[in-house]
Amino acid sequence: MTAPARRSPLRELRSGGAPAAAPLLGAGGHEDAGSHEPGTGSVSGWDLSTGVDGPGTRFVLFTAGCPLRCQYCHNPETWRMRDGHVVHAREVVAEVARYATFIGAAGGGVTVSGGEPLLQPAFVREVMAGVRAQGLHTALDTAGSVRITPAVEALLDEVDLVLLDVKAGSPERFAEVSGGRLERTLDFGRLLAARGQRTWVRFVLVPGLTDDAETIGEVAGACADMGCVERVDVLPYHRLGEHKYAELGIDYPLAGTPPPAPAAVAAAVDVFREAGLAAS
Ligand code: SF4
Repeated sequence: MTAPARRSPLRELRSGGAPAAAPLLGAGGHEDAGSHEPGTGSVSGWDLSTGVDGPGTRFVLFTAGCPLRCQYCHNPETWRMRDGHVVHAREVVAEVARYATFIGAAGGGVTVSGGEPLLQPAFVREVMAGVRAQGLHTALDTAGSVRITPAVEALLDEVDLVLLDVKAGSPERFAEVSGGRLERTLDFGRLLAARGQRTWVRFVLVPGLTDDAETIGEVAGACADMGCVERVDVLPYHRLGEHKYAELGIDYPLAGTPPPAPAAVAAAVDVFREAGLAAS
């Protein structure tokens, strides 16, 4: 997801430091990892953040495993589920409880990001239900790029706000940016609208990749069509995760690409506003 590049290591959430045994799931697979104990999931870390992962100060849990490979991804260490750490949902909920007073007083809550949290819907649902029982707001940061199942819908029952990443607005550009299928995100958006789910969209503006007028217009149109989008955040591409690619021995697809100029970000925001959306 479009999570901050800064990240605390797992610490208490680690389950003996042992990596998850589950294999990387493909783009079509998103059942909870079958080799995990019920109630457990594979996660890569957590962090506290303010301003980018939902309202207020957030406890942000990063799940492991993602079916996409976005060119601008700054969390490549979350791609493979087997590289995460297996924890039980109650361990996560107990960790959140240590900060519940602080984040609750700050008008915040808990955001589950990734990776792609929808790859582990039962685990994430248990986390969400547990933190909701503490009176905390819940947000799900997702690209919606999975098959919709009853487990996914059950998870959404525990989510107050969906942060939906929309990568591009045409199937071709979506595939170029992420390796995935636009239709899945659109199907997920339609599900959110049908459920009346509160939704904020995030769109990453990348020079030479997603900053052309056609792409921005298509994304704005897709968001307007969803009918459930409360606001759109245009996120300027940044290179804070580039060093991770070198550490992982992966070529960085956007080497040499600069962040967008502030004027380009402002112009993109205007396109969303012209489509009738609240955008910043
Ligand atoms: S959806 Fe894209 S940006 Fe988010 S974790 Fe997966 S590859 Fe990275």
